[in-house]
Amino acid sequence: VASGFVKQLREHARELDRLQGTQAKEFLKHLEELKDYLRARLYSVGSVDMTLDVFHLRQVLAETEVGIATLEQKAGKQFSRAQLRASQLSMEHMAQDLDRLGLAFDGERLGVNIEAAKVLADPGQQLLAEQFKGSLREYGLKTLNGVRRSLFIGNRTGQSLGETVRTVTAPGGPLGGVATGGAERLVRTEVSNAYGVAQQKGIEEVAEQTDGELKKVWLHIGSYPCPVCMPAHGTERPLDGTWTFKQGKRSWEVAHPPAHPHCVCRISAMKPKWRKAMQKLGYLDQKGEEASPAQL
Ligand SMILES: [Zn+2]
Repeated sequence: VASGFVKQLREHARELDRLQGTQAKEFLKHLEELKDYLRARLYSVGSVDMTLDVFHLRQVLAETEVGIATLEQKAGKQFSRAQLRASQLSMEHMAQDLDRLGLAFDGERLGVNIEAAKVLADPGQQLLAEQFKGSLREYGLKTLNGVRRSLFIGNRTGQSLGETVRTVTAPGGPLGGVATGGAERLVRTEVSNAYGVAQQKGIEEVAEQTDGELKKVWLHIGSYPCPVCMPAHGTERPLDGTWTFKQGKRSWEVAHPPAHPHCVCRISAMKPKWRKAMQKLGYLDQKGEEASPAQL
């Protein structure tokens, strides 16, 4: 008897969420280090009461650039580790899904193996690493420009050094809440993407071993009935298929989750026969939580 498939999916979602959380925290630690570094450099320019002259302003800007480059370097290294971990997690989860579904509906495990090396070597993963570097560069430039703006305003309005430092590091400043929120979203989204790319590749791997019988099925597993993803719940696509999502006038296509930031959906490889059985059990109804039986 298959019990707790839904529970298993939720546990997987929690594991992915924990990974995203740890990675976001790690990134924020780098950001804190940058803040401390800049604060120390700014204070070393002179006494807190002095006004920031152009000479010192240039010096501080150059050091800011160095600090941001260091942040990018650290974050880049961290991302390759996070990407690896997300892919591994994705493969583990998929193997567990297939085991459980096979046992439930065929009375035996599917008996396939997912080659980690192939999943990790997927061009999609390389692309993600590039994309992360790009986003990171953009993030770094935005931060640098923010600091530059604060320093110039401080210089022009005759602020004291102490005031300027406070402006730069204030919650609304270039190194404050905006930088933090942006960093967290960036890291969470990219980790989620790495997981999704690995799922897609893993499903392709598994399908090669099962005579093209498998399809991919979208599963909405969050307890919040997300209006974007709910219509996709339980729908099936060929392995190279995509889903189209809509929000207002905007529509976009994806081959696998995430469909949007903070999306906790999954795809699972399924035989059409399994999907039909799950449908009968009511699990694939698109009415949200209440429609799903607790046990499968
Ligand atoms: Zn979703």
